[in-house]
Amino acid sequence: MSEQTIRIVIAGPRGKMGIEAVKMVTNTKHFELKAVVDTKNAGLMLKDLEDQPNLEIPVYDDLSTCLSDVETDVLIDLTKPESGKKHLEIALDYGVRPVVGTTGFTDEEIARFSEMAEEKGIGVVIAPNFAVGAILMMKFAQMAAKYMPDVEIIEQHHDQKLDAPSGTAMKTAQMIKEVREPKRQGHPEETEDLEGARGGDVDGIRIHSVRLPGRVAHQEVLLGTTGQTLSIRHDTIDRSAFMPGVKMCVETVMKLDVLVYGLENLME
Ligand code: NAP
Repeated sequence: MSEQTIRIVIAGPRGKMGIEAVKMVTNTKHFELKAVVDTKNAGLMLKDLEDQPNLEIPVYDDLSTCLSDVETDVLIDLTKPESGKKHLEIALDYGVRPVVGTTGFTDEEIARFSEMAEEKGIGVVIAPNFAVGAILMMKFAQMAAKYMPDVEIIEQHHDQKLDAPSGTAMKTAQMIKEVREPKRQGHPEETEDLEGARGGDVDGIRIHSVRLPGRVAHQEVLLGTTGQTLSIRHDTIDRSAFMPGVKMCVETVMKLDVLVYGLENLME
């Protein structure tokens, strides 16, 4: 039996992630891109936008109008935190399954959207990190820290990144915290002669942030115990790295009737 075609709307097609998502969706046999939502180009076709394929796919400036005009199974939102939340709610109102890649959801918002998804029996995926390799790195690091509890995390990003440490480094530390007791690492009488030399401290787990032009997104988790070390490293080369994860979320959300937060929870 042939795979069911999944009808998709993408919000934010002009963004760095959106451009990759349009490519991925239009190159996937069982996906059909029905429309895009772009606040600045209503009434045009996708082919009229820069860096987009030559396709007669309508551009809407408003998600509600788009979803009332176009039969859609899944919304992929790659916009901004505030519009991601708004779009998620609108999609649920129209019975459309949202896959949201924006960050900034509070625990209360996750709980509220979970309730809405459950009431409607509609799958939702919110994935602040679509990089499958990064999720595996975090899971492997968590597994290893049970047996090698001395851990240092070194994350490297491009020099335009505004926050430090990265969300992935913090998430890695949180996951490691779940499997090991808080402990002070290094010599008990260690001193820091240059402020910050030992990095940030999450229950004893040290996080070091490097910012350099030319880097994209990289993280190495170093674990050490007597006579041995283990390094677990992930490198993101460009934004196409996120697309296998987006594809997995779109396929999986069709089978869900609840909200799932975090790609790691789809990768058991
Ligand atoms: P970007 O290049 O700034 O693109 C965002 C795009 O969304 C822009 O084209 C923007 O249009 C558009 N937009 C904003 N509000 C909109 C709305 N209400 N309706 C439709 N389009 C709207 O950012 P990016 O790097 O592609 O990232 C997009 C989002 O994904 C960000 O929130 C980012 O944090 C997140 N992200 C997630 C992952 C992940 O793995 N989950 C990875 C990377 C990035 P204007 O130019 O008109 O404002």
